[in-house]
Amino acid sequence: MLTGKLALVTGGGSGIGRAVCQVMAREGARIVAADINEASAKETAAMLGGAEHVGVPMDVTSEESVAAVVSGVREKFGSPASCVVNCAGITKDCFLRDMSVETFMQVIDVNLKGTFLITRLTANAMIDAKVGGSIVNIASIVGKGGNIGQCNYTASKAGVEGFTRTAAKELGRKGIRCNAILPGFIDTPMVSYVPDKVMEKLLPLIVLGRPGRPEEVAELAAFLASERASYMTGASVEVTGGYGM
Ligand code: NAP
Repeated sequence: MLTGKLALVTGGGSGIGRAVCQVMAREGARIVAADINEASAKETAAMLGGAEHVGVPMDVTSEESVAAVVSGVREKFGSPASCVVNCAGITKDCFLRDMSVETFMQVIDVNLKGTFLITRLTANAMIDAKVGGSIVNIASIVGKGGNIGQCNYTASKAGVEGFTRTAAKELGRKGIRCNAILPGFIDTPMVSYVPDKVMEKLLPLIVLGRPGRPEEVAELAAFLASERASYMTGASVEVTGGYGM
């Protein structure tokens, strides 16, 4: 499905991002796993088993850091990544009434500004090289419904959805498709802190009765990145096990 493609995956050192790297490599893509945690990015690349895959450090909140990776990729591989999956993300939960500006902005910076920076720089690299491409942004189902204690996170993820639709409109004529995935509750390190009593309340709301696995999101990301999704752009696709229907 992705033979010959070069894919850049942010947050590639953990959870959904690592699973995206694994599924896309299985489908034939060469992978650049980028993460703020260099060791985990390199671990992902090593797990994929092949010298064509690399793990690199990158802070998605820093324009300099993103630009260095984008130009480094072009130098090393001779072309920009034509598949980009934005998985880097954080939570910093706190009730709205107590949340500091700093806590609010930290989450906006990684989840929303990071998605903007990656999209702008990778799309420009694709356009300069006259190649089309596909950008997949990981938003969240709670960006639609809200979630107690997550005003920063839900705002960032709702922002990612709107941003993705605008990017789709601006970049479509350049041969670049942009889509968002809205995962529900997925079993990754990000949600490992969720207390048992919250889990007990959450599980009955999931039609399939269980959390999702990272690879169940990754399969959709690989599809959206591929030519099999050639007529999809500006879409927000839910992968929630039927959460909250
Ligand atoms: P995860 O396992 O914590 O993975 C996120 C990765 O992003 C981590 O490796 C993290 O590094 C990295 N990261 C954090 N800040 C970064 C930065 N500034 N620059 C580059 N990388 C950075 O979480 P996940 O569950 O796989 O989440 C992946 C994406 O899915 C996120 O956007 C998340 O919001 C979204 N999502 C997850 C769920 C879920 O239920 N798990 C549901 C909906 C949406 P560190 O670990 O070192 O911080």
